[in-house]
Amino acid sequence: MSTVHEAPARLLDDRAIPRAGERVTRDAYGRPITYLRVSLTDRCNLRCVYCMPAHGVKFAPRDELLTDDELIRVVRVAARLGFNRIRLTGGEPTVRPHLVEIVRAIAQTPGIDDISMTTNGLLLERLAPDLKAAGLTRINISIDTLDPARYTIMTRGGKLERVWAGILAAEAVGLTPIKLNAVVVRGLNDHEVPDLAALTLDHPWQVRFIEVMPLEGVGHVHDSGLVTTAEMIARLQERFGPLEQLPAPLSDPARVYRIAGAQGTIGFISPVSEPFCAFCNRVRLTADGKLRLCLLRNDEVDLRDFMRRGCSDDELAERIRFAIWRKPWGHGLREGDRNVGRGMSQIGG
Ligand code: SAM
Ligand code: SF4
Repeated sequence: MSTVHEAPARLLDDRAIPRAGERVTRDAYGRPITYLRVSLTDRCNLRCVYCMPAHGVKFAPRDELLTDDELIRVVRVAARLGFNRIRLTGGEPTVRPHLVEIVRAIAQTPGIDDISMTTNGLLLERLAPDLKAAGLTRINISIDTLDPARYTIMTRGGKLERVWAGILAAEAVGLTPIKLNAVVVRGLNDHEVPDLAALTLDHPWQVRFIEVMPLEGVGHVHDSGLVTTAEMIARLQERFGPLEQLPAPLSDPARVYRIAGAQGTIGFISPVSEPFCAFCNRVRLTADGKLRLCLLRNDEVDLRDFMRRGCSDDELAERIRFAIWRKPWGHGLREGDRNVGRGMSQIGG
C-alpha cells in the first residue's frame, strides 16, 4: 500500500495528463485544483482550546495582511485558472472589515459559482441577511457542544446562545444547506457526539464531526484528545442502530451517513485516521498572502510581496500555476511528521 507521501502510480498514470481543452489547473499528481480556501484574517473573537494556545498567539500587523483589492485580485486570477469554488475562513471571517463587500466582489467574479464561509457564528445573526444578499451561497458553523457552560470553556469565553441565533438566522435567509462543525476532543465533548448527531433527526442540517489535528501550539490537545471516526461511529450505532452511508463526491473530505428516518445527515472528517489526500482539490490563501499548498505541511508560496512588487495578472497566474504544480502529495501525520509551522487560525482551517 502506498503511504501518504507516495502517490499511487495509478493516479500518476490516469490523471496527470491534461485533457484536451481543459480549463482546470492540475498538480503534478494530476489532481484538479479548483477550490480555494481564503483566510480573511488571523484574528478571532474566540480562543478555542484545540485551535489557539491560551497565551502567546501573535497576530500579523495589519500591513502584512492582504488588502481587500489584493485578495479579490488573487480570487479573480485563480478563477481564470479554473478555480470555481471559494470558502471564506480565518481566524474568524466575520471580524474582517468590509466582509459583505468582499463577498459581493467574489460572487461577481466570472467563473466562481460557489462561495461559502466557515464561521463560529457569534456575529452571524446580524450579518446573515446582508451576506445572503451579497451572494454567499452557504455556510458552515462551528458548534462543539450543546452545553452553554462547556461551550464557554472550550472556546474560552463564547456564548452558545449567540451561535444558536446565528444558525437560525442563516437558515431563515436560506444560507443552506447548513453544516455544523464539531471538533471532538476526548474528555471535553466526546460524550456529546450522539446528542449533536441527534440534531439531524429534526433538522435538515449536516452535523460534521472532525478529528482533532495537531496544529502549531495545540499538539497536546490532539495527543491526549484524539477520538477517531471509527470510535465515533461505534458510539452513534450504540444509540441509533446502523447508520446508512450516503454517496458523496470523492473530493468532499466528509464521509456522509444518515440515522434511519433523520431529516439531516452526519459527516465525518478524518484527517488523522483516514487522510483524503488522494482526492484533495484545494489550496489555501493565508491572510498574509501566502498560497498554502497543504493544510498540514509548511509549504507556502508568497503572492503578497509579488503583487506589491508590481507583477501583472499573467505573472500572478503563472506563479499560482507553478505553486499548484508543486503541491505536496499529502501530509505525514501518520508517520509522525508535524512540520505544520502555523496554527489553524493563522492558516485558515
Ligand atoms: N473561526 C471559524 C470557525 O471556528 O468556524 C473559522 C476558522 S476555524 C480555524 C475553521 C475550522 O477549523 C473550524 O470548524 C474549527 O473547528 C476547525 N479547527 C480548528 N482547530 C482545529 C484542530 N486543531 N483540529 C481540527 N479542526 C480544527
Ligand atoms: Fe477562532 Fe475558529 Fe479558531 Fe475557534 S476555531 S479560535 S472560532 S478561528
